[in-house]
Order: sequence, then C-alpha cells, then structure tokens
Amino acid sequence: MQNVLVTGGAGFIGSHLCEKLMDLGYKVTCLDNFLTSSKNNIEHLLGKPNFVFVEADVAKPLNLSSRSFDFVFHLASPASPIDYQNYPEETLLANSMGTLNILKLAKETGSKLLIASTSEIYGDPLEHPQKETYFGNVNTFGPRSCYDESKRFAETATYVYIRKHDIDARIVRIFNTYGPRMKKDDGRVVSNFIMDALNGTPFKIDGDGSQTRSFCYVDDLVDGLIKAMFTEGTSGEVFNLGNPDEFTIKDLAELVARIAGGESEILYSGEFRENDPMRRKPDITKANTVLNWEPKTKLEEGLKKTIEYYKNN
Ligand code: NAD
Ligand code: UDP
Repeated sequence: MQNVLVTGGAGFIGSHLCEKLMDLGYKVTCLDNFLTSSKNNIEHLLGKPNFVFVEADVAKPLNLSSRSFDFVFHLASPASPIDYQNYPEETLLANSMGTLNILKLAKETGSKLLIASTSEIYGDPLEHPQKETYFGNVNTFGPRSCYDESKRFAETATYVYIRKHDIDARIVRIFNTYGPRMKKDDGRVVSNFIMDALNGTPFKIDGDGSQTRSFCYVDDLVDGLIKAMFTEGTSGEVFNLGNPDEFTIKDLAELVARIAGGESEILYSGEFRENDPMRRKPDITKANTVLNWEPKTKLEEGLKKTIEYYKNN
C-alpha cells in the first residue's frame, strides 16, 4: 500500500481529499493543527486502518515517525479571507516555512509533491480569463497580501527545489471552491449566503455585486488534485483548477435565495473590500488537455448539495 501525506488534511478540501485517497487504496497520513478547522471533518476517518492523524504545525520542524511518503499533498494554510486576516503571521509561516519543510522532506525522501496555490496569486487580474502564464497584479502591502504573497513565495520555493534539487513537484492554482464541510462561519461568500438564507438574515453584498467569481464544487476539485498528482509528466508544471463558469456576486445571491428559499433581503454596502479582485475566471485549457480534467458539477447542483449539508449539520 502506498503512503500519502496530506498537510491541512482536516480542512475543508483536505478532508475530502483524504477520503478520496483512502477510497483509492492509499494509506493516508493527515497532518493538521486545527488552526482553521476542527476534528469533526475527520471524525469518521479516525480509527480506520489506512488513516493516521498527526497533530502538528507544518511550519515547525517536522517530526514524522514514518518519513517515507510516496506522495505529499501540501494544503496546510488558512484559505478564507476572514481566516487569513485573523491569522496573518500563521498564514505567512504555513506557506513559507511550512512549504520549505515539505520541500525538504520531498528532497530527502523522494516523495512526489503537490503544492496547493491559489488564484489569489493573480491578484486583481488585468488578464481575463487567467491563464497559468499570467504573472498577476498583486499588492504586497494590503489586507490580502499575507496570503497572496506567501503563496507566491511557496510557488517560487517550489521552482527553486525543482531546478536545484530535481524534486518531482507540481503546483495547482485553486480557484474558489465550495461544498459540504466549508465552515458555516468562515466568512466566504457561499457559506455566508447559505447561512443567511437558512437563518432569514439579509445577504450583505459588498460593493454593487458586479464583481465576479467562478465556483468549483469540491468533488470536482479533488478529482483535479488527484489527476495533477498521478498523471505522468506533470512534474514542474503549474495548473489552474477551477470551474470556468463565471457569476457576479449578485447572481450568486439570487441563485442561493432561489434554491434555499426563505425571505432574506439583499443589502448592498456600496463599497468593495480593499484590493478585492473584480473578476476571476480560470482558463483551464491546460488542465483539460494535459490532465483530461474539467469540472462536471453545475453551480446550481453543487449549491443544492451544500445547502442540504448545512441543513443537516
Ligand atoms: P481550510 O482552512 O478549511 O483548510 C486548511 C487546513 O490547514 C485547516 O485544517 C488548517 O487547520 C490547516 N492548517 C493551517 N495552518 C496550518 C499549519 N501551520 N500546520 C498544519 N495545519 C495547518 O481551507 P481549504 O479551503 O480547505 O484550503 C485548503 C488549501 O487550498 C489551502 O492551501 C488554500 O490556500 C487552498 N485554496 C483553497 C481555496 C478555496 O476556495 N477553498 C481556493 C484557493 C486555494
Ligand atoms: N462577499 C460579499 N458578501 C459576503 C462575503 C463575500 O459580497 O458575505 C464578496 C467579497 O467582497 C468578494 C466575493 O464575495 O468580492 C468573494 O469573497 P470570498 O470571501 O468568498 O473569497 P475571495 O474570492 O475574495 O477570496
């Protein structure tokens, strides 16, 4: 049985990834410090013979009893704007020291590595849709910078280790992903709107709601992560993973209101958040061509499943 390490494995995306890898027959070690998650996400996996949990901070020296992982997925980092602005130093460290620790592990043990980056490295993009070749338009000195710039550092550190130490690593730039196990209070737009619809509280839209995002259902994203890791010839490559269907935030509010029902009114703040990207949509031609990957879940279908999860939990 091959061994896989998933850092950030107790998080929203990580817990789905651990589950899928176990289904595929891998032995999974999940490393997490619960900074932005809880044990609830992995409760059902604890005690299974092919699941090991290690409570640790990836930014500190790694003390893993088995260091012989065939594959390492590095996801540990706060991801929601509310979380990374609450934990800016932890975010800097998870993506800098944490990534360096994981790169060293890969160098020493020959593990194949996947680094989770983000569409945020494109900042408020001047190119639309965003291709992997776009360098981005990012502020180094603002509320989103701790996340954006530390992810950019993580990408650069990975480049250095590939070139200098010949490790087998690939980077995925994840675009907005949603689905069951997103924290209800993580402040992201999908969870906020669903909770507002279920509680009958107003949807609070920043600005005039004309800013866009492209939302990928978590099962599709996990499928992409697995293909990026296990497809031959992907070392040294960068892939956008996301759903190219683009929606304004106003469209999203109306869709959630229609599916979830309820009587929530929609309030507009009139002001956008500082450095808020106005448009975001991945060009996924590369993932489609090289990995034979594309998302299958329409936003309406994914929202229905997510709303169901929130109602039952
Ligand atoms: P999440 O907050 O649910 O999961 C992150 C996990 O990492 C949590 O379990 C957290 O406790 C853990 N973690 C944070 N710092 C750690 C540290 N120092 N040591 C060990 N564990 C640590 O977020 P998510 O949405 O599941 O995001 C997972 C990854 O995907 C992140 O790297 C994020 O940047 C990336 N990503 C997510 C999205 C998205 O829309 N969800 C978009 C782009 C990129
Ligand atoms: N947003 C909003 N109302 C909310 C939460 C978010 O209007 O309750 C907006 C936010 O200003 C941004 C977009 O929705 O323009 C996506 O925000 P989110 O925090 O989900 O993630 P981001 O894509 O900005 O990282």
